[in-house]
Amino acid sequence: MKANIFEIKHFAVHDGDGIRTTLFIKGCPLKCAWCHNPEGLSVKSELAFLSHKCINCGECVNVCNFNAHSILDGKHVYSRKTCMTCGDCVDVCPEDALKLYGITYSADELLPLLLKDKDFYKNSNGGVTISGGECLTQPDFCEKLLKSLKENDIHTAVDTCGFVNKNALDKVIPYTDVFLYDVKAIDNDVHIKCTGQSNKIILENLLYLDSKNCKIEIRYPYVPNYNDTEVDKIGEFLSKLKNVTKVKVLPYHNLAGSKYTSLDLKNTLPFVLPNDEQILHAKKVLSSYGLNVVD
Ligand code: SF4
Ligand code: SF4
Repeated sequence: MKANIFEIKHFAVHDGDGIRTTLFIKGCPLKCAWCHNPEGLSVKSELAFLSHKCINCGECVNVCNFNAHSILDGKHVYSRKTCMTCGDCVDVCPEDALKLYGITYSADELLPLLLKDKDFYKNSNGGVTISGGECLTQPDFCEKLLKSLKENDIHTAVDTCGFVNKNALDKVIPYTDVFLYDVKAIDNDVHIKCTGQSNKIILENLLYLDSKNCKIEIRYPYVPNYNDTEVDKIGEFLSKLKNVTKVKVLPYHNLAGSKYTSLDLKNTLPFVLPNDEQILHAKKVLSSYGLNVVD
């Protein structure tokens, strides 16, 4: 059983408490308009081509056995259709214009990579976070890895959008110290506009985790003209839960534009960014519901 990992981020400080290593697993059931990890949407491996870095040297042409690279009229051309995402061209590119998103690992292969920073976890009250994409689309892999981490006394976090089968939650609950849980909207129409999917399962799963006394940290991505009208509704919904220890407001940013281009994906990023006043107001409103709002 293997998972397709698009990034292993060491010394992460925004994915739970302390210093952590965060694993990003490919594949997500939602299509958030503001997604800043489009390389995590598809479950399949993908080669990113950063054309602005390419110097048309042709080194990649020489190593590709599938004719996915060519130089035409002195200019590099990449064919995504014929690429088999073997990754051979990445290492020969002198300008880092090629990047492979997606390498498969088993839990046993990952464990030593994660344990090597054990001292940093211990000294900072950190640990390991499994994220994505949506990591719980691969529940058996997550269960095995989380179990191994707990056997090694490592703090564990699962970062989820919640749009998953309840059985997947049941598999990881025994080995997860904290759930980092996205709440994008309470109004279902707003949620569909933001993500392409209903929030019914997401809210049901959040209530389920709460009923199981799981520790939950909420993430509210604040996106003007999408879900900025949801602050009060989110505050009211969360105020009824018993196990929400923290709430974070994540201001939308549009820094991922070049990733969409490099992957030949349609850029769906909203134009309007939140300002400081809007974020401050959202935090104040959430705090007024008795929630522990943190930066
Ligand atoms: S990843 Fe492999 S198949 Fe794809 S372009 Fe590079 S060398 Fe060719
Ligand atoms: S090796 Fe890199 S810089 Fe050279 S042509 Fe290929 S992508 Fe461009």
